[in-house]
Amino acid sequence: SGNSAINLEDIEKYSKQSFPLCMRQLHMSLKEHHHLRHGGRMQYGLFLKGIGMTLEQAMTFWRSEFTRIMDMDKFDKQYSYNIRHNYGKEGKRANYTPYSCMKVIMSNAPGQGDYHGCPFRHTDGALLKQRLSTFGLTQQGVDQVMELVKGHHYQLACTRYFELSHNVPETEFLLNHPNQYFEESLRVRGG
Ligand code: SF4
Repeated sequence: SGNSAINLEDIEKYSKQSFPLCMRQLHMSLKEHHHLRHGGRMQYGLFLKGIGMTLEQAMTFWRSEFTRIMDMDKFDKQYSYNIRHNYGKEGKRANYTPYSCMKVIMSNAPGQGDYHGCPFRHTDGALLKQRLSTFGLTQQGVDQVMELVKGHHYQLACTRYFELSHNVPETEFLLNHPNQYFEESLRVRGG
């Protein structure tokens, strides 16, 4: 389940096989730019915490990317606080929980240079289509997903994407959380 321990080495594989599109996009952007802006760090960081990443693992994970474009000192000064904060170790010590689909879809729309948000809601249609086909959907599959996007049924579009990419005819869950998507994916893939 989502709260059991994970291995950092598995994140790459998980991102391709079992992350919802929103988190796969954040992961790819982090790998490409070795950086994510605040909105992305929050959305992705809390998701990772939700799949079982410990604070220690989170520090290692973010530091290893960010220090490819900045020195350790700058990372520690500017970003480690944020990560500790997500784990309730700083500030008001709130226990921050991962964002639901509704929150991702409805609040804090991404701007230029941001990679957070819900791709079904926030990504330009042409780019989204291209991405869906790059990620293995057939033309027919892409059309089915885009039809739901056009009707503003973002979570249903995401669910259809899940069905198509996991090769299941119909899911038995009502998608409302990116961490739920991940757990259902592990269930379907048997691991
Ligand atoms: Fe992520 Fe939810 Fe959007 Fe799917 S519907 S991409 S899980 S925010």
